[in-house]
Amino acid sequence: MEITDVRVERIEVPLDRPLGVSRDRSMSARGAAFVVVETDAGITGIGEGVGPESYIVERIVEEKYAPKLIGEDPLDIERHWQSMVTDTVYQDRKGQGLSAASGVDIALWDIAGKHHGVPVYRLLGGPVEGSLKPYASDLFWQDPETMAERAASYVDRGFEGVKTHLGRGLDADEERVAAMRDAIGPDTALMVDMNCGYDRPEARRVGRMLEEYDVYWYEEPLTPYDVDGLAALRRELDVPIASGENEFTKWGFHDLFEADAVDYAMPDVMRCGGITEATKICALAETYNTVCSPHCFTTGVGLAATMHVMAASPACEWLEFDPTDFEVYEPLFKTPPTLSDGRIALPEEPGLGVHLDEDVIGEFRVD
Ligand SMILES: [Mg+2]
Repeated sequence: MEITDVRVERIEVPLDRPLGVSRDRSMSARGAAFVVVETDAGITGIGEGVGPESYIVERIVEEKYAPKLIGEDPLDIERHWQSMVTDTVYQDRKGQGLSAASGVDIALWDIAGKHHGVPVYRLLGGPVEGSLKPYASDLFWQDPETMAERAASYVDRGFEGVKTHLGRGLDADEERVAAMRDAIGPDTALMVDMNCGYDRPEARRVGRMLEEYDVYWYEEPLTPYDVDGLAALRRELDVPIASGENEFTKWGFHDLFEADAVDYAMPDVMRCGGITEATKICALAETYNTVCSPHCFTTGVGLAATMHVMAASPACEWLEFDPTDFEVYEPLFKTPPTLSDGRIALPEEPGLGVHLDEDVIGEFRVD
């Protein structure tokens, strides 16, 4: 089998409700870069690379990686990973080159699954368990009452955990944590994400407040550059620390683990180096007895890739799940994921179990 074409299809989805995070930042649209790999066997692989500007992922994939891959056997996944990532180490150790390589790598795993007639998690040695426990990842910055109502609605739908985005000062954060904890009761896990919004002293003060509300994890309180600060917070606070969505490759995670900086490691499969690298990061997490809860705020393609990785690793817990009926999420699955008894079943079709349905993505396509 030979690769005959590698291209990127991009979409941009406008949002009715802006997604507010720390420091008054917010998002009014969500984009995606899908990597499509064609073969002479008639098998097509689909991946996704996450970066803030999808056109950069497109340029890197189409101009830098496609010429290396066309004419090659798509099943030589590790060799292609080495060619894309380690051959360019002098210029590009972290960032969008890795996002682009992640998208290609995921598409190659999709081809491998389809070629062998099994879901990707089987190729990775899974499943460890036949279903995954999701948490509802929404609850962006709004007034406390609205956030509390939304949080309770996810508990009513059967989610055992909910995540919120805060990071706009101790008092404003506390108002919202108190309202949400009150609305969801004591038994639902409440994760809090600061999206890198605080410096060390403020992160410490806010962390002590979060302890009072039995917060499940305290995510990215600091800039990802400050690994020592994260390690210090982890020693000082009782609330567990989560970080890693802005980290790349097994070497980046090795540094986080060596510094004792995280309780929950959050590799993003679409950024850290794809399924190949995320699987190795999960194995590395096992050696540090650290939980992996991959970051996943993306389309259905990225969700599927994340589910296959998690299904094959004993280190993984808590699938990050977007409960907002995002237009390019469940509809990209051949069998859309549904919540039943607090769990989501694994995709069982060969490959990732997703397709780029033109009826779904067509209206959001950008050139
Ligand atoms: Mg986060």
